[in-house]
Amino acid sequence: MKVLVVEDDPAVSEPLLAGLKRNGIETEHVAYASQVLAAAQNVDVVLLDLGLPDGDGLEVLRELRRVSDVPVIIATARGDETDRIVGLELGADDYVVKPCSVRELAARVRAVARRRRIDSSLDSGRLVVDRARHRVVLDGNPVELTAKEFDLLAVLAEEPGRAVPRQELFSRVWDPVWIGTGKTLDVHIASLRKKLGDAELIETVRGVGYRLAVDNA
Ligand code: CA
Repeated sequence: MKVLVVEDDPAVSEPLLAGLKRNGIETEHVAYASQVLAAAQNVDVVLLDLGLPDGDGLEVLRELRRVSDVPVIIATARGDETDRIVGLELGADDYVVKPCSVRELAARVRAVARRRRIDSSLDSGRLVVDRARHRVVLDGNPVELTAKEFDLLAVLAEEPGRAVPRQELFSRVWDPVWIGTGKTLDVHIASLRKKLGDAELIETVRGVGYRLAVDNA
């Protein structure tokens, strides 16, 4: 997961870049409107400041939308309701009001990236997780999974390599307010590993959760 941070104020960008990195999100940083189009080509999400030294962020958004559907989160100052509304109308996916907490921003970044990915599939060569057809193929062989096992694998496959916290898996596959021992999750993971026939594919990340150990090609 890589985010392009467009922000000209170092007092804002520096803690943001460090904080996103702490949250396991890679970053690229530009400070000028003229740099955005080129830099946005190889990232998963763009965080766009609207007040840039060489141009208006909303104009940048308009140009970006002509060539790309990369998810965009606009960053506005408190009270700038008009900018926010225009931004959403121009195709921004979400907005944050500055100053915002890095944890909140990281959650929003993941949420917009997830929404964008919801119809797409993981195809790593070895493992194909096809959401639209609800189909899993490993090393060329179809794998039969229960609905919950599929959902679990699909969440892990959204971002291969990321350690997905147990709580996130619970809340997205079972219940947002799930309270319990976590046994259900472990039982499903065990069954998933067995059906995939490769226990190494889903790694246990101690004290965190689980990670899918394939590259998204
Ligand atoms: Ca600014």
